[in-house]
Amino acid sequence: MDSMYVHIPFCNRICTYCDFNKVLIKNQPVDDYISALINELKTYGKETLKTIYVGGGTPTALTVSQLDRLLKFITEHFTVTDEFTFEANPDELTTEKLDVLNNYGVNRISLGVQTFNNDLLKVLGRTHNFDDIFKSVNHLEKIGLTNYSLDLMYNLPGETFEDIDMSLKYVNELKPKHISWYSLIIEPHTVFYNKIKQGKMTIAGGFEEGEKYDKVISGLDALGYPQYEISNFAKAEYESMHNKTYWLNEPYIGAGAGSHGYTGDERYYNIKPVNHYINNMNEHGSVVKEKLLLTQNDKFEEEMFLGLRINKGVSEARFLEKYSVPVDAVYGDVLKRLVEKKLLTRKNGYISLTEAGRMIGNDVFVEFLL
Ligand code: SF4
Repeated sequence: MDSMYVHIPFCNRICTYCDFNKVLIKNQPVDDYISALINELKTYGKETLKTIYVGGGTPTALTVSQLDRLLKFITEHFTVTDEFTFEANPDELTTEKLDVLNNYGVNRISLGVQTFNNDLLKVLGRTHNFDDIFKSVNHLEKIGLTNYSLDLMYNLPGETFEDIDMSLKYVNELKPKHISWYSLIIEPHTVFYNKIKQGKMTIAGGFEEGEKYDKVISGLDALGYPQYEISNFAKAEYESMHNKTYWLNEPYIGAGAGSHGYTGDERYYNIKPVNHYINNMNEHGSVVKEKLLLTQNDKFEEEMFLGLRINKGVSEARFLEKYSVPVDAVYGDVLKRLVEKKLLTRKNGYISLTEAGRMIGNDVFVEFLL
């Protein structure tokens, strides 16, 4: 395997929009979880990986000694050659925690900023504020960990176009290497979902959401952050190597509660609830809840859905090399139709979404279902 994702399912507060696999950290068996996680990681044997990504939940919700214990094991058991990313909340990235990350070779931080507007941060239920963002970036700069991503969201309830302008202004001030900027998705079982259902909250849809997306893309492009994936933007040489594993449909290890991994032939899904995860690891030495063996058609579909997310698109030569069949033999008619509709282009051996196609990405992806 080239890559590994490690999940820390604890947070200090639950955000109003979040449907990730996470629990409030208070009174949770965090040390037992780390023990179970370490035991799960041992099942993979010692490996050299190109990328490791520790996400959550909030990995920085762990204490300094918990972080130390986890990272000590990870770096003794695995060798990471290229990119070692840690997700962090701005108010939790203390100098002590940052020193631990730095000591163990973490070389990239994904900072959960979401917005620079304090009122919107409150609406989102975040624990940090505007000042925390600047403080954490200062800490990062001070220790020379300058490869960080700011993770933002748009189309928030009550958000204006001026809020996006303000975020662009601060992006330009902070000059991160990478930006993820996702549209808010209203997921079931969240506070936002219930509020909208009860008519107590609205978010912009359709045209306004599209205009905001346009503003994000053109604003970042003007600041020197070309878009390279539907929601991701980076300075040259700083595209996320780890996330590219997913988009290029390459195998990766998924470890931790609710994680999923991919072997190339099979996708596997870990048990989600923290206590079940710990008990299963302790009693059965395994935490995999489900394995899904992929058919050839599943693989074709995933190659297209994932690969079309990146601006460069799907390489026709790589498709042929991976599956021993030309992409036209599987998708000839679909490709012809979507190119005619100007939703796809085929250039220099790559199939990619046009701007219009990117706006309705999910509708385009559906066309590749076999
Ligand atoms: S958005 Fe992040 S910090 Fe907020 S509850 Fe979800 S996982 Fe935790």
